[in-house]
Amino acid sequence: MRKVSLDEFSIADLPAGSRERLLLAALPGLIGPVSLPALVARGQEGRTLLAIAGVHGDEYEGMEAIRLLFDELDPVKMRGTFIGLPIANPFAYEARARVAPLSVDGLNLARVFPGDPGVSASRALARALLDFVAAALTIDDLLIDFHSGSADVAFAPMNGFRDIPGPARARSEEAARHYGLPNLWCIPDSPGPLNAESSRLGIPTIGTETTGRAGCEPEDTAAYLAGLRNILAFLDILPGGHPSRDSRPARKTVNVVAPTTGFLRVSKRLHQRVTVGEELGVIITPFGDPMATICSPVSGTVWAVRSMPPVRIGELMFMIALAEGGPYQHQERSQTCTTEAAYG
Ligand SMILES: [Zn+2]
Repeated sequence: MRKVSLDEFSIADLPAGSRERLLLAALPGLIGPVSLPALVARGQEGRTLLAIAGVHGDEYEGMEAIRLLFDELDPVKMRGTFIGLPIANPFAYEARARVAPLSVDGLNLARVFPGDPGVSASRALARALLDFVAAALTIDDLLIDFHSGSADVAFAPMNGFRDIPGPARARSEEAARHYGLPNLWCIPDSPGPLNAESSRLGIPTIGTETTGRAGCEPEDTAAYLAGLRNILAFLDILPGGHPSRDSRPARKTVNVVAPTTGFLRVSKRLHQRVTVGEELGVIITPFGDPMATICSPVSGTVWAVRSMPPVRIGELMFMIALAEGGPYQHQERSQTCTTEAAYG
């Protein structure tokens, strides 16, 4: 298998009509080199789709969708290029975890973009990946950043674009409208995720979420794969006409994070509708005494719910998609109706 330095990879080095498995070497001077598997298929001149999975190491659906798509690609029929990086964060993947293990740096890769080459392994990896994205893609191309619910949260299936003004905004939204998942998401801006920082650089970008729970449900993988096929047709890389367009308003979301550490007893399920002030759950002590009642800060629909009961202060418990026309809040916030006995 050919090994290429991540910062020296160029689509132009692949002849038209070729399809190749590569190992991309990164961070040679820090702790590496670290090898990132890459699946590349290049057809005739055209646009490029770069699909990245595994920024969080325990989110497996996108990894599988990339591999399954690559297996069916025939570069002779392609006008453009597909690049898939199924395991973008080998530190977290090896640890079977969302974030890098403490022995590396303990960081969440999706919070440290645009990164920094000399500070820590995750920050250096973020820099190398974003530089790779910027070198591979133009305003005519597209990045997909695959996520799902990690081990401790379940998401509804959704495709979205960052609510970040700039040259990539309209193209990102249009691509998200053609991916084909059941929910269309206008993702609030926040610093650190790959898909936010690539959008900020003017690179059209979409992000996805689905069930997760550190599983890899066949229907989730199939939906991600179908979306990849839709996007290849949307970008005219594969023939097959235009996929259908989701013309509904994109839903904005609010994250509800834990105001205290404890055990979350959930009262609402995925896809349930809630009204502002309605109880979402209760955080209890090990003895079962309530510490905090969690209420919805907005009216809307539950698009993510914590599935692992133990929760630490600041961790995501729920994501609520605002009812259409509802107020829009950017920031993550914790919301409690009442706070009872402190634990300890
Ligand atoms: Zn993720």
